[in-house]
Amino acid sequence: MSTVRNEAARNVPLLINGEFVQSTTSDWIDVTNPVTQEVIGRAPVTTDAEMARAVSAAEETFVTWRHTPVQERMRCLMRYQALLKEHHDELAEILASETGKTMADAKGDVWRGIEVVEHGCSMPTLMMGETTENVARGIDTHSIVHPIGVCAGITPFNFPAMIPLWMFPLAVACGNTFVLKPSEQDPLTPTRLAELWQEAGFPAGTLQVVHGRKPQVDYLLEDPAIKAVSFVGSVPVATHVYRTGTHNLKRVQCMGGAKNHMVVMPDANKEQVVNHLVGASCGAAGQRCMAISVAVLVGEETRGWMDDIRKAVASIRPGPPSDPDAAYGPLISPAAKERVEQLIGTAEPEGAKLLLDGRGHTVDGYPDGNWVGPTLIDDVTPEMTVYKEEIFGPALLVMHVDSLEEAIALVNTNPYGNGTSIFTRSGAAARKYQHETEVGQVGVNIPIPVPAPFFSFTGGKNSFFGDLHAYGKQAIRFYTETRTVISRWPEEDLPSGPNMTISMR
Ligand code: NAD
Repeated sequence: MSTVRNEAARNVPLLINGEFVQSTTSDWIDVTNPVTQEVIGRAPVTTDAEMARAVSAAEETFVTWRHTPVQERMRCLMRYQALLKEHHDELAEILASETGKTMADAKGDVWRGIEVVEHGCSMPTLMMGETTENVARGIDTHSIVHPIGVCAGITPFNFPAMIPLWMFPLAVACGNTFVLKPSEQDPLTPTRLAELWQEAGFPAGTLQVVHGRKPQVDYLLEDPAIKAVSFVGSVPVATHVYRTGTHNLKRVQCMGGAKNHMVVMPDANKEQVVNHLVGASCGAAGQRCMAISVAVLVGEETRGWMDDIRKAVASIRPGPPSDPDAAYGPLISPAAKERVEQLIGTAEPEGAKLLLDGRGHTVDGYPDGNWVGPTLIDDVTPEMTVYKEEIFGPALLVMHVDSLEEAIALVNTNPYGNGTSIFTRSGAAARKYQHETEVGQVGVNIPIPVPAPFFSFTGGKNSFFGDLHAYGKQAIRFYTETRTVISRWPEEDLPSGPNMTISMR
């Protein structure tokens, strides 16, 4: 599919040391509106010299920023939080133009990021250390939480506001400086986030924004000045980032892809289950790492729910952000659409039932959009391609098992471990499920259990590499070091002679 040229499309700037500058590169990446293929911007493939300037600006700024009192850092973040709220609609419009998300969903993307910034405004408390008096006679110990240096963030296309906001506001409020490499597919939203950052009064050099692809990511993974790397994206890239970053002795957290199951017990409320399955699988065109992509129906009785599920999934349709009745938007690119359609195409030949086929979907007035219609695939089994691959499209797979134990075994055998949910009226079943499933986020009668920002966004197995997770208390630990100070201020002279033991006296 060819793109539509647009003379008004602007070249996306880099942010280096407080200045928005045009890259000198000759290599530019088109940013397209996925509803029309219109080119709405061009992201630069940042040159090595510009990468070096960005990292050194962050390094030099760290020298002073780390000494800025935590309350001053917090006040900048409070102004940022206010500006994000003031510009909420505008940010959502930019976001919708480059992702095609519905306006309601685009606003939600921005809002979940604002919530993380709000939580960061309690940084003086979040960064408190600990004290114990008299750990030995006359000896006290306290711990100090301090920043680690220049941090980097590499983010995916599917939440261009929320995911960058998981990272740089917290890292910088901890006293670090930051280099962000957002997705090249939707860099306009992060650029606007960065403009508001400057407007909020953060000093030049606290945040740099560079653009590009693998070489720019690899630059950050190799540069010794970068002390910590936060990554969110697909499993193959997460694996590469984790291996390379840790090989270079950096602290790394990588949130990867997913295949999220919703287990439906026969005692669940059918209407709620049906409604939640539709929204959680096809919302955002299925391009959410927490999308429910597999419904696991337990027991013979729930087979009888398939007709209602089919009707509910068939009742929704995609459309552009300007259509308030559209349930979701297009896929991010023609390549993503082609990939999803190719995966749907493997279902029937491998023995599944294609109850709703979203391939070849059209939307009146938007012939060039990357549309995929709502798709429902029944009788899926673990060896099928549609089950093994993360589809990342508006497709719900259905599997049938006989018992809760079988459902738990299925979820635990799956290599991903991002999110899952159970729908049931039984407290015992819910307790067993949350206790035994090896998945980061568990919802009980909640389809997409994304934690509020004072908890952390976790994940396990191939959906997460590292130990400290995103936002919440764990992010503060990720972006800081702890120093312990052991002190003695004796009122009288200490006994003379060396202490030849390790004990304190
Ligand atoms: P992606 O892995 O293609 O890209 C993520 C980032 O890595 C982008 O900034 C991209 O430029 C960069 N990149 C791409 N290829 C690279 C390479 N070979 N080497 C180094 N860097 C590279 O992911 P995407 O398609 O933008 O996002 C969708 C994926 O992200 C899905 O798999 C989804 O499940 C996952 N995701 C996970 C979470 C989570 O919290 N677990 C959240 C959102 C998205």
